Amino acid sequence: MSLDHRLSDELEELRRTVEAFAHDVVAPEIGAYYEQHAFPYDIVRQMGQMGLFGLPFPEEYGGMGGDYLALGIVLEELARVDSSVAITLEAGVSLGAMPLYRFGTEEQKRAWLPKLCSGEVLGAFGLTEPDGGSDAGATRTTAVRDDNGDWVINGSKCFITNSGTDITGLVTVTAVTGHKDDGSPLISAIIVPAGTPGFTVAAPYSKVGWNASDTRELSFSDVRVPAANLLGEEGRGYAQFLRTLDEGRVAIAALATGLAQGCVDESVRYAKERHAFGRPIGANQAIQFKLADMELRAHTSRLAWRDAASRLVHGEPFKKEAALAKLYSSEIAVDNAREATQIHGGYGFMNEYPVARMWRDAKILEIGEGTSEVQRMLIARELGF
Ligand SMILES: Cc1cc2nc3c(=O)[nH]c(=O)nc-3n(C[C@H](O)[C@H](O)[C@H](O)COP(=O)(O)OP(=O)(O)OC[C@H]3O[C@@H](n4cnc5c(N)ncnc54)[C@H](O)[C@@H]3O)c2cc1C
Repeated sequence: MSLDHRLSDELEELRRTVEAFAHDVVAPEIGAYYEQHAFPYDIVRQMGQMGLFGLPFPEEYGGMGGDYLALGIVLEELARVDSSVAITLEAGVSLGAMPLYRFGTEEQKRAWLPKLCSGEVLGAFGLTEPDGGSDAGATRTTAVRDDNGDWVINGSKCFITNSGTDITGLVTVTAVTGHKDDGSPLISAIIVPAGTPGFTVAAPYSKVGWNASDTRELSFSDVRVPAANLLGEEGRGYAQFLRTLDEGRVAIAALATGLAQGCVDESVRYAKERHAFGRPIGANQAIQFKLADMELRAHTSRLAWRDAASRLVHGEPFKKEAALAKLYSSEIAVDNAREATQIHGGYGFMNEYPVARMWRDAKILEIGEGTSEVQRMLIARELGF
């Protein structure tokens, strides 16, 4: 019998450890970082010391020898309390380090993975451009080889997570490096170390949510990196980021589930404490039914992401299940955040209440790492359209 609703003892211990960290370390501090739009270096350093950035990587590269199930468990627990730290971890692992592990040469892995796994440096993934996110074929950034064989990169990227912190070590960027016979672009992925001349990082965006995470616009003006910085084969960048995003969707689905569950946690507590008309608001069936529906959504979302993660970990096809999980979890995260704010009444609109942060943080989940429309396109394609 292999289907089992219980986590292994090891995973349950990891879950409890991160639950305690989120409660004891993140919860008391994160509101102030969020208000100041500041990156929580101290919290991220502690996450690094706990090994969270190395979770799904082998020990020989400084990792913890875990997998995407372990990563999802951790993201869910962090996002129950705060999504900025969760997305910093998600992007650092799934977008920053994973492409190097999956597609990098042995030399690239040895050079970068130990630092990325320890959280000493953060990696970023630059795919989206000002003129196109969903349509990655519209990439305008170019990379051409000069006489020495070095890559010379020109172009810009937007909305790139973890790309401008004091500890950002590299951004892997997609660029057009040629064209196929039919004229379609050949896209390749190239590692650009932070601080390379010509690589400019703009000031952080002013965002609706995820305010304690780092998101920037990047520009590349004759940025020169060695030929050895090509990630994997030339022209394979498109396939590489499709795989990267498939895996990332499992992680985002776990994060969204955490946010949805955090809305339940906060709302159940509040519904028992807050009195109106002489009794707790939770004594009203209208509120109880809202809470029951919120719990139903978080529970179903958890089943969906764990199913996708299990398929991924077992080396089975998981593209459709990852899209289903990402689509469902992000939409119900928005639903739960809306209901949690409603249950909190006016206090739900005050930033000092965690549900206000969750409300602001939920919407991006329907957009980042593939919009809801893109997930529906992927699912429909898997259905044969
Ligand atoms: C906070 C934040 C962090 C991010 N981090 C990163 C990162 O680290 N790295 C990175 O590369 N990117 C990152 N992104 C970018 C993100 O992945 C894109 O914003 C997203 O993929 C959507 O692309 P777009 O913004 O260009 O929207 P567009 O592609 O312009 O889409 C606009 C709207 O049109 C819809 N649409 C487009 N095509 C179709 C179609 N064929 N059918 C139906 N509807 C369609 C979309 O679903 C969407 O609703 C981040 C974005 C944000 C906001």
